[in-house]
Amino acid sequence: MSASELETELIELRRQINLLELRFARTSAHFARTFDPDLSASDDPDQWLREECRMTSHAAYSAIDIGELEPQLTASIAALTSGEIGLNHLSWMAHTASRLQQSATATSPFDEQKLLSHAKENTVQRFRRKCDQFIHEADHQTFVREQVDGVEARRLTLTTYEDGSVALDAILDPEGGAVVKAAIEPFAQKHSANDYRGLSQRRADALVEVLSHLLDNGAVPQRSGQRPHLHVTTTLETLLDHVGSPPAELETGALLSGTTISRLACDSTMVRVLLNSESMVVDVGRAKRVVPTATRRALNVRDRGCVWPGCDRNASWTQAHHLIHWTDGGLTDMNNLVLLCRRHHWMAHEGGYVIVRSDEGALLTFATHPAFGPAGRDPTLIAA
Ligand SMILES: [Zn+2]
Ligand SMILES: [Zn+2]
Repeated sequence: MSASELETELIELRRQINLLELRFARTSAHFARTFDPDLSASDDPDQWLREECRMTSHAAYSAIDIGELEPQLTASIAALTSGEIGLNHLSWMAHTASRLQQSATATSPFDEQKLLSHAKENTVQRFRRKCDQFIHEADHQTFVREQVDGVEARRLTLTTYEDGSVALDAILDPEGGAVVKAAIEPFAQKHSANDYRGLSQRRADALVEVLSHLLDNGAVPQRSGQRPHLHVTTTLETLLDHVGSPPAELETGALLSGTTISRLACDSTMVRVLLNSESMVVDVGRAKRVVPTATRRALNVRDRGCVWPGCDRNASWTQAHHLIHWTDGGLTDMNNLVLLCRRHHWMAHEGGYVIVRSDEGALLTFATHPAFGPAGRDPTLIAA
């Protein structure tokens, strides 16, 4: 078959399918009108269609709607059979008519001709918006009620796995979803052409980055007199990353490696707790910032933001990093400190890269553990 013959064949097949769909819709509506739950294993005709005809609930409702509203949709059905609109256009047309018919607050009636002209000119997705606009004009209260229903369907489930990883599963109303997207998308861009993270990884990083920024800046209300933050308990051996040391622990019980503790200890507030041989607390030191506030201010002025090549995070989105870690004898002074954003601070500790200052004072990044990161990544590339 030639390309044009195939095209003709497809259009004819679609026309026949649409005719069959119409027949199915009429029969479904007839079935729904005469449905008797006492004589059926299903509670209602929608359920019967879903289970016995293996349909989605949307397809089942839609078939019944089209069949029931056929007298109001004569021009649209003619347009479907002539191929001017598709079945999904007709389905939204029927749904819109049904919404208005069932409403006690509609201020103007269903106008088939007005919607049909939109259906002929628009894709299904755009036509769906036209239908919603029509409802807004013809029945403002139903529109508001449907929006409220959408908000009430919101949810966010946090599931913590045994290793401390957290799965997020959420449905947000359109406005809430737009806020989340607007907040995280600017932070989910690639740092450079060498940024090997996929979009979903960048979004995950962006979410944590934005929320960390809120915590770091005290934008979250205090709880029990303390600013909410990560609380980590570690032994001195773990902090010094000694072989054979136990892992550190987050408040949630999740375990952290000595490598992660090194990163957290670069820029944090530490409290020394001494235990005796029976693990009883014998002394608690004063909370002390690793990087004093005055040093941090000076760093903000000097570095202005993350110093990783190509990164644009400004100072308020960064953490102070020791080029030589203080647990290895590095000083907490301007010569040994640089600002890194959350992502690049991770790269410099767990990510298999090191950042060093050359004799000329330039900052360079090198891959040290090419085994980290995705397979096939060129370890000689400066990463971002
Ligand atoms: Zn660091
Ligand atoms: Zn950065």
